Amino acid sequence: MRNDRNDLEKVIVSEAEIGQRVKELGERLTGEYEGRNPVVLGILKGANVFVADLVRAMDIELQMDFIMLASYGASDTPGEVRVKMDCETELAGRHVLVVDDIVDTGQTLKALMELLRMRGAASVRSCVLLDKPSRRTVELEPDYKGFEIEDAFVVGYGLDYAERFRNLREVCAIKKRVYAVE
Ligand code: 5GP
Repeated sequence: MRNDRNDLEKVIVSEAEIGQRVKELGERLTGEYEGRNPVVLGILKGANVFVADLVRAMDIELQMDFIMLASYGASDTPGEVRVKMDCETELAGRHVLVVDDIVDTGQTLKALMELLRMRGAASVRSCVLLDKPSRRTVELEPDYKGFEIEDAFVVGYGLDYAERFRNLREVCAIKKRVYAVE
């Protein structure tokens, strides 16, 4: 079955806009991380597509790794992060660039960055494709970001709704009726 575009409201960031911005971010990161052999740590699953494009826009020696986090449940303590699948790389003394798809409340990224600092990383910075600043509940400003967007539920370019739409080339808002029914 094809991706059902009837479930999509509108394009928020086009393929061309993403391509251009990823190139710019890659050039900037190349300048900042040259000679530091950073660990580019993608958060699964959402950052998978973004990180694949981003590292190819960075023309330096680097290592890639991934970490999978459990999504928050009502019983979880805010500020804590549960690691579902850990990365392999020993991060002590390393320069770590955490890559995520989107920052919403900021809780996930803030808690993960604290965890990585506790593991002794030499530096921890964040790069996110999308930022919804109006939704923030904790103090967190991504070090690098692609786009600030309005408060809508978005899919595509790695982001899903119930595992659907990760393979769209652009970022789209999904129709309210699609996620409001459950
Ligand atoms: P935070 O801890 O910042 O509230 O949550 C960040 C995570 O929530 C993201 O990594 C992503 O998995 C999920 N998320 C937040 N907003 C959206 C959205 O608009 N679309 C999708 N697909 N996931 C989102």
